[in-house]
Amino acid sequence: MHCDVILNIHYTAPKSVWDKINRAYKQLPYWDGFDSDGPHWIDKDIDITASAKPEGLKIYGEMPEEQWGEWYEQLKQKLSAAVGYPVGEVSEGYEFRYWKKAVNPELDITMIKGGTDNCYIVSDRKEAILVDTSSGKSLKQVIDACSQYDMKLIVLTHPHFDHAENAEAISKRFNIPVAYHREDDAIFDVYDSQPLHSYGAVGAVVLKLSLKQLRTTKVIRPANHFYIKDGDTFDDYGFPSVKVIELPGHTRGSVGLLVGDNSLIVGDALDNWIKPGMGHLYYDLEVQKKTYEKIQSLGIKNIYYGHGKPTKG
Ligand SMILES: [Zn+2]
Ligand SMILES: [Zn+2]
Repeated sequence: MHCDVILNIHYTAPKSVWDKINRAYKQLPYWDGFDSDGPHWIDKDIDITASAKPEGLKIYGEMPEEQWGEWYEQLKQKLSAAVGYPVGEVSEGYEFRYWKKAVNPELDITMIKGGTDNCYIVSDRKEAILVDTSSGKSLKQVIDACSQYDMKLIVLTHPHFDHAENAEAISKRFNIPVAYHREDDAIFDVYDSQPLHSYGAVGAVVLKLSLKQLRTTKVIRPANHFYIKDGDTFDDYGFPSVKVIELPGHTRGSVGLLVGDNSLIVGDALDNWIKPGMGHLYYDLEVQKKTYEKIQSLGIKNIYYGHGKPTKG
């Protein structure tokens, strides 16, 4: 029997979904493997192929009717489980689900300059993530900048006041969660849980000027928060191409965000007070040095610092 159906799975589904679909394929009887045309199921009198077309997922080829009935039911079941919604024929009214950012969009990174610190809005020009929140005196400025977007999430590179003091207020204002690394949780209670040291003349000045505020500014732990770790991406918030990179040294839980392939927001792991380089303040110098080398080895073109002007390659 010739078989030919179009299922309601759109070819623009993101890679993470196709990975699940490919795993589902392999669980079906007669699985033969992938070749240049796509996945194949082969047996006596059976030769079925799947192909992602603009009109949907096309399943076609030859299979005897008795086997097709059961095989096709299994296929739909496994695909439904893989994609997370009922899969069936488009001609029978099964609807597509569209993944808004199936293809990683070009993302903008917009700097908001607080006092001496920067925070960043990562956006597709509609929806956005705020990376760091600046200190209390910049609250209105940061909220005004965020108000131009449909805000989805706040990420903190680390919870020092100059990055995190406004986190709770902005989280409440836009009803969005705040993500940060678990290792830095205690800093919300007491800065001295990870006291800073410095290198060089610049570092000594910066530390001297900020130490009192670091110690005395109450940074509220956001009520609506979750933890992030190395490799996490923000698929659930519409930003699959924004990835967490652990950059410890300044604090134990310092993170950077890799935006696409070419841009890295580094928090205080690096700084550009006078010239770009390793962050002048650190909790652990050896770890900070390793992180510096790690960032170098990534060969990222554009670096966005917590302090100082971004550098673009
Ligand atoms: Zn810091
Ligand atoms: Zn800082």
